[in-house]
Amino acid sequence: MTMLTADQIKTTAVLGAGTMGHGIAHVLAHSGIEVRLYDISASAVEKGLASVRANLDKGVEKGKVQAADRDAALARLSGSTKLDEAIAGVQCVIEAVPEKLELKQKLFADLGAKLGPEVLLATNTSSLPISRIASVTPRAERVVGMHFFNPVHIMALVEVVVTERSSQAAVATAVALGKRMGKEPIVVKDSPGFASSRLGVLLGLEAIRMVESGVASAEDIDKAMTLGYGHPMGPLKLSDLVGIDVRLSIAEYLEKEFGERFAAPALMREMVQRGELGKKSGKGFYDWKA
Ligand code: NAD
Repeated sequence: MTMLTADQIKTTAVLGAGTMGHGIAHVLAHSGIEVRLYDISASAVEKGLASVRANLDKGVEKGKVQAADRDAALARLSGSTKLDEAIAGVQCVIEAVPEKLELKQKLFADLGAKLGPEVLLATNTSSLPISRIASVTPRAERVVGMHFFNPVHIMALVEVVVTERSSQAAVATAVALGKRMGKEPIVVKDSPGFASSRLGVLLGLEAIRMVESGVASAEDIDKAMTLGYGHPMGPLKLSDLVGIDVRLSIAEYLEKEFGERFAAPALMREMVQRGELGKKSGKGFYDWKA
């Protein structure tokens, strides 16, 4: 059987109900697609479903979502802690479990064996090579990256990441599914950092080097980008939101792949050692306690 088109996708499974999984499930359900939100932890499933409910409620309060659309979206959404139950009869799976290669490979080997070749298998990994996840999957041509951004129900971009083995049909289905979800898909070759992190992290690292050498304050460097270049948020505030530790580990990975231009500045390492991780710890380049 050949790959299904996006219009033929009626039921999906989202694997992992955390930050990204619940957001992806929210958008799928809001786009008219049935979703089974799967996690190994029952409390994560409950929390994920509750977050979708809360975000849809907020949408209704703000007048951005019709109450009837919220109710219909919630009716399309269910939770599960049983993988076989979650994936039975689905036409697409989007995986959003923790960023560990072996974990994702184990899941994709299982999915590949249990689901027909017409089913799109997508991973939301932000940095792992899609080709290595696909390499363990029977019929790897149906595997692509679908890299969403946090918070998924707000951010417009999805990177469709294409391996050498991804079929044109799988890429077309992923792009059309992204559009059906109201996103702007871009198609990117499977290379480290894809299009987004590679550029975004480099800008963040240079901004940190500028703070380190006293070029300007963090606020003023951010203003240079927001007011001078029209970025919605400066690179230092964005680093605080993502987490300085998270950005450090991406920089270390990209340095291995691309060399010195991704070397982390000493200030970044010092901040991580001091526990100044950004918003989540209350302090980064900005004070978040207030
Ligand atoms: P998270 O820690 O918030 O959620 C992961 C969830 O997966 C947890 O609820 C956990 O219980 C569950 N889980 C663990 N093992 C599992 C298994 N074997 N099967 C099913 N569920 C399992 O993580 P997250 O931030 O949502 O990240 C998920 C993926 O999305 C990662 O690959 C990450 O790199 C990527 N990503 C994250 C962001 C972000 O801003 N957080 C952005 C883009 C992509």
